[in-house]
Amino acid sequence: MVSEKLFKELNEQLNFEYESSNIYLSMAAYCASLDLDGFENFFLVQSEEERFHASKFYNYINEVNGRVKISAYDEPQNEYESLLDAFEIALGHEELVTERIYKLMDLAQEEREYATISFLKWFIDEQVEEMNMFNKIIQKIKMIGDNANGLIMLDKELAQRTFTPPTDTDVNQ
Ligand code: MG
Repeated sequence: MVSEKLFKELNEQLNFEYESSNIYLSMAAYCASLDLDGFENFFLVQSEEERFHASKFYNYINEVNGRVKISAYDEPQNEYESLLDAFEIALGHEELVTERIYKLMDLAQEEREYATISFLKWFIDEQVEEMNMFNKIIQKIKMIGDNANGLIMLDKELAQRTFTPPTDTDVNQ
């Protein structure tokens, strides 16, 4: 059985995923202001992915008979010094998400809540991918430096990103 404390933490993470979606939307808008359509697309897809993460928490909490509560969140940062600045903030944010997922897992393990442990495993793997993805782009932006051609090439690469919910996991799991 999921305890009230664990429900509260799961619900907070649900809201944090929506907040993450909003943060990435602000980064998409920043890239749009620089006319970098590929970078904008990258963050729009990331924003969509975070809503998908939130919906997984939403469905799980309901499935184990919890009560989802939607909360307000702070206005995201809307101005960034540079692309590198935005991506470094994004990486820092994902590191924070990873910490939060680990804490949730600690609590689920303390409570021997095996269903929740199983549910959270997907997020643990997902966070490895998220941090790796941001790290790689940060390295590329650093390599590009002031090279406009390099920036245009990376913009084209990021324009290819699309959102496809994983087929091996069901949102309604
Ligand atoms: Mg997420």
